Amino acid sequence: MDTSFEEAGAAPGGPEPTDPPAAATEAPSPPAVPSPSPAPDPSAAEAGGAAGAGEAAVTGTAEAVGRRPAVAPTSLSPSRAGDFMQCPLLYRFRVIDRLPEKPSEAATRGTLVHAVLERLFDAPAGERTAPRARSLVPGQWDRLRESRPELAELFADDADGQRLARWLGEAERLVERWFTLEDPTRLEPAERELFVEAELESGLRLRGIIDRVDVAPTGEVRIVDYKTGKAPRPEYAESALFQMKFYALVVWRLKGVVPRRLQLVYLGSGDVLTYDPAPADLERVERRLRALWDAIRQATESGEWRPRPTKLCGWCDHQAHCPEFGGTPPPYPLPVRARESGEAPQGRMGAD
Ligand code: SF4
Repeated sequence: MDTSFEEAGAAPGGPEPTDPPAAATEAPSPPAVPSPSPAPDPSAAEAGGAAGAGEAAVTGTAEAVGRRPAVAPTSLSPSRAGDFMQCPLLYRFRVIDRLPEKPSEAATRGTLVHAVLERLFDAPAGERTAPRARSLVPGQWDRLRESRPELAELFADDADGQRLARWLGEAERLVERWFTLEDPTRLEPAERELFVEAELESGLRLRGIIDRVDVAPTGEVRIVDYKTGKAPRPEYAESALFQMKFYALVVWRLKGVVPRRLQLVYLGSGDVLTYDPAPADLERVERRLRALWDAIRQATESGEWRPRPTKLCGWCDHQAHCPEFGGTPPPYPLPVRARESGEAPQGRMGAD
């Protein structure tokens, strides 16, 4: 089937990854892994940190000044699904306790690069050049800092500004690399930074933000996601595609159309990973997500959130609260359902 999402006939999907680097993904946020055994993108808007609006419902009152209320999850995004698969206790800290996390340079750079790529499409097609994109970086950084004052702490100790200059330079290089992978002068995205949400028959609500949606003249849909990290090794490609299949499932349920192509654009390594999903793929993802949601609900009701230590713990902001590192979780803030036997649940994380 001929599928052309570019205005002037560029090959859809770009090059397939031929020699992916050894290292895997974005820096500090956990990779989205679909399999029951776990594996940043700062998928820009969803990277790290606590759950976004709508991820959870407020069920209590704030216990102390500066601490957000305890919440029970009401929907699932790819990032939070990845959290639970990586470590259930990490999911609890982020979604239920909403513990604060420090901003990271890597995740923030990802957010900045995403903002630049989004804004570039405001310009007429012929003006979407690499120099113009680079020139957007400082202004978008200013806007980001204004909207998220906590980011000021990232460079608070950078008295001479050299670290900030290097960081901005790296963001510019990532933006520039994009032009070796896609040609924005030949693209007219149907959507950018598109918030999507759909409720499955099971009642599970899925939500997320898609970086870019292209629609070909034939009506075929391509979902595109930018990653500022490196492409995964081939054996991890399936895990990397989980987020994209998640989005494809949401689009399918919303619009009744299976997206023709899923495309991951890795700016860190200059690779493009594509996948053309079939309905059976997405039905499998739906079954997996239902099982995952059942496990999350069970943990929410029982209060049992087990830590699952991996090498990714090095990027976790919550070691001080994690039993694996000698810490103690905060008191579990939600009501706990008694077990069928009538006994109090055992092994709950944190004191009452
Ligand atoms: S430090 Fe603890 S809470 Fe964080 S990811 Fe590791 S096991 Fe999970």
